[in-house]
Amino acid sequence: MINEFDLIARYFSRPAPAAYLGVGDDCALVPPAPGMQTAASTDLLIEGRHFFPDAEPRSLGHKALAVNLSDLAAMGASPVACLLGLSLPEARPDWLEAFADGFYALADAAGCPLVGGDTTRSPAGIVISVTVLGQVPAGKALRRDAAREGDDIWVSGTLGAADVALRLLTGELPPDPALLAATRAALEHPEPPLALGAALAGVAHAALDISDGLLQDLGHILHASACGARLEYPALPVAGALAGLPAGLQRQAVLGGGDVYQLCFTAAAHRRDEILALARRHGSRVSRVGCITAQQGGLQVLDEAGRPITPLPAGFDHFN
Ligand code: ADP
Ligand code: MG
Repeated sequence: MINEFDLIARYFSRPAPAAYLGVGDDCALVPPAPGMQTAASTDLLIEGRHFFPDAEPRSLGHKALAVNLSDLAAMGASPVACLLGLSLPEARPDWLEAFADGFYALADAAGCPLVGGDTTRSPAGIVISVTVLGQVPAGKALRRDAAREGDDIWVSGTLGAADVALRLLTGELPPDPALLAATRAALEHPEPPLALGAALAGVAHAALDISDGLLQDLGHILHASACGARLEYPALPVAGALAGLPAGLQRQAVLGGGDVYQLCFTAAAHRRDEILALARRHGSRVSRVGCITAQQGGLQVLDEAGRPITPLPAGFDHFN
C-alpha cells in the first residue's frame, strides 16, 4: 500500500482557487464572505449500507459529493468548499484514480473546491465522509421550521426512479434490463439542483432534500413547523421510466422511495409565477404538489378521485 502522504499528494491535492489555502496545511483557509452565513453539513457513506461493495468508483466519487451538495441546495446555500474523509481497507490505484475523477468532476462543475480531509486505513469496508461548506445570505436560509399554513408544496425534478433502480439491483424486483437502464442514473448519478436552491433563498419558506422518501422527509418539515400537509398524488412528478409499473409499486417508489436528492419546499401562493420563472431560468423542473394545512402532524395524500390513499407506503402510518 502506498503511504498516506503519497496517496493524498497523488489523488487529492489538485489546486484550490487562489483565494483559498487548500490541501497541505493543518487547516484549509476559505475566504470570508461579508453578509453571508456559513452552511455546513456532513454525510457518511458506508460500504454495504449506502453503496454496493462493487460500486463503480467514479460514480461513487460523484455521489459522495452530490449527496452533500444536495444538503446545501436544500438550505438555499451556494457551495464554498468541501472536505473528504476516506477510510480504505487497501489503496488500489485504479479505484482511487476513478473515485478522485468522479469527485473532482462534480466539485469543479459545482464550484466546490476540495480543500482538505483525512485518510486512514479501515479494518473493514470503505467509509467515505464528505463535509461541505456553503454560504447563504444572512437570514435567508431555507429552514425546515419555516413552513406556514396555506403554503404551496413544491417538488423539484422527478420521483421514484432511484428507488426502482435500487430494488432491481438488490433483487427485490425481478431482473428487467430496460427498466434498470432507464432508472440507474438517478440512483448512481444524482444531480442536486444547486442553482435552484440558491435562487429559492429568500423566496421559498421551508425546504429539504428528499433523501429518505418524500413522505418521511416532508414529515420533518411538518414536525419542525408544527403543521400538516395535503398532497395530490396526480400532481407528483413521477419519473417517466415508472410509467408501465403496477400502481402500488409506483406509489411506493414515488411516496416512499429515497435517494432522490431533489428538493421539497414550501412557498406562499403569491410566489407561484416567480418560482416557475426562476426554475425555468435555472433549468430545473418544479411541480406544485399540495399545500400546508393547519392540522399538526396530519399528512394526507389524495388520489385521482380526491380520496385519501390508505394505507400510505409502509413505515409511514404514523402520519395518519
Ligand atoms: P493532520 O495530521 O493535520 O490531520 P493529515 O496528514 O491527515 O493532516 O493531512 C495532510 C493534509 O492533507 C491536510 O491538509 C488534510 O486536510 C489533507 N488531506 C488528508 N486526506 C485528504 C483527503 N482524503 N482529501 C483531501 N485532503 C486530504
Ligand atoms: Mg489527518
